[in-house]
Amino acid sequence: MSGGDMAKPLLGHQSMEGDPSITPAAGRTIGVLGSGDFARSLAIRLVCSGFKVVVGSRNPKRKAGLFPSAAEVTFQADAVKKTDVIFVAVFREHYSTLCDLADVLVGKILVDVSNNTEINHHKESNAEYLASLFPACTVVKGFNMVSAWTLQSGARDGNKQVLICSNNQEAKRTVAEIAQVMGFTPVDMGCMSSACEIENIPLRLLPAWKIPIFLALGLFLCFFTYNLIRQVIHPYIREQKNKLYKIPIEVVNTTLPCVAYVMLSLVYLPGVLAACSQLYYGTKYRRFPDWLDQWLQHRKQIGLLSFFCAALHAVYSLCLPMRRSHRYQLIETAVKQAVEKKMNIWVEEEVWRMEIYISVGIIALGLLSLLAITSLPSIANSLNWREFSFIQSTLGFIALVISTLHTLTYGWSRAFDENQYKFYLPPTYTLTLLVPCTVILAKVIFSLPCIQQRLLRIRRGWEKGRYVKFVLPSATGEYSSGETSSNV
Ligand code: NAP
Repeated sequence: MSGGDMAKPLLGHQSMEGDPSITPAAGRTIGVLGSGDFARSLAIRLVCSGFKVVVGSRNPKRKAGLFPSAAEVTFQADAVKKTDVIFVAVFREHYSTLCDLADVLVGKILVDVSNNTEINHHKESNAEYLASLFPACTVVKGFNMVSAWTLQSGARDGNKQVLICSNNQEAKRTVAEIAQVMGFTPVDMGCMSSACEIENIPLRLLPAWKIPIFLALGLFLCFFTYNLIRQVIHPYIREQKNKLYKIPIEVVNTTLPCVAYVMLSLVYLPGVLAACSQLYYGTKYRRFPDWLDQWLQHRKQIGLLSFFCAALHAVYSLCLPMRRSHRYQLIETAVKQAVEKKMNIWVEEEVWRMEIYISVGIIALGLLSLLAITSLPSIANSLNWREFSFIQSTLGFIALVISTLHTLTYGWSRAFDENQYKFYLPPTYTLTLLVPCTVILAKVIFSLPCIQQRLLRIRRGWEKGRYVKFVLPSATGEYSSGETSSNV
């Protein structure tokens, strides 16, 4: 999924913004049934947008003080008579109590703004239920994704999209017109059968983030346990040393870069698998398996979580010298050296390793920040496709290579030191290298001219085993035609 996807109207439906057939409707009278939070915010927004507002309440005297003075607060039946467009700001459970108004509602447009508490809570959507109670009215579903807060603070704050659906085009157009005057972006979601989908959207919690978050948590848990065994449990069992103090910072800080690094490689691994599949089957027209499709679609979120972990790792690392345990260790080492009368403790190789390791880490974090920033819809929209793919694909891969250098300079020769194998467990950094190095190796292989050419041809539509017409000159100089496989 490209970064620009988030800026597009949800579900790819048609935005009605800028539709020349939509004309300003300010000045028109709009009715609101109900006097709760939503009704109040809606009335304020409508008044600010130049509409006349009439609010229908069961108890207008008590509720009038809650509304702006420009809005008229009256009894439900009275309010309904004064307007053709009525927002029903009442919960579904109370729709049936409005049935007494059926006669005065004939021919009016009812806007159903309601939400449910659970996905697919009822057999039919709230809007369809309202339509079944008032068959002589035209029902339009809309505004349910806009919160009372967004309405009050204006469309600058929060989601600007208002998804609208109805079986009546004219009524839908009228509501879209009102939304546009209020500063929202109406999005046509088609006919009333979409109401269920529109009602489910506000109930979904970060749908695109679920898999990446579980993946990050899973990796964190695995690496955390592994580091805990090596850094805390091993010294306790082998030397009876209590190293529990390491858990909040040191163990977490050795876990975070592992998660960040592996997650970054998981952004590029599905691309490698997709290329392998295309090379194997010799076509780009074969559907990827569902799991690979899903994985490809979640790359942006996986990348952002990788950046998040890397940023946390940077902050944790900066805080390491602030710890009291670190100060005690420094003093202890200094005292030991003084006792042993050691004057020069400078180890040239260690100094260089550390300088390179930190510098490379900073560059990797800088590149990851760039990738994260350019995945924001507003920034992604300002880039053309070439620029976007250069940053996300080429610079992203460079970030992976630099992160590998960071990991290697951190680990240095520890993989060859047998003291580093706690309970026969190799140092953590060697495990983290597995997936990223596979990705880098695969990318290097794909860049070999013979493979790159074949992949390029496949991506331009060439297929293995597809028969093409050919024309050959005969011995007599005449041309004969036939068919052969393009694979030959
Ligand atoms: P609320 O504060 O509880 O207000 C509901 C209103 O419904 C009451 O003030 C009441 O006004 C009216 N009502 C009419 N008949 C009723 C009855 N028989 N029993 C109880 N109340 C009755 O709720 P709300 O937050 O404004 O939400 C209203 C609708 O907007 C809901 O369908 C909700 O899903 C939808 N919505 C709300 C938000 C939000 O941010 N709050 C966002 C999107 C959608 P009177 O006493 O004056 O008649």
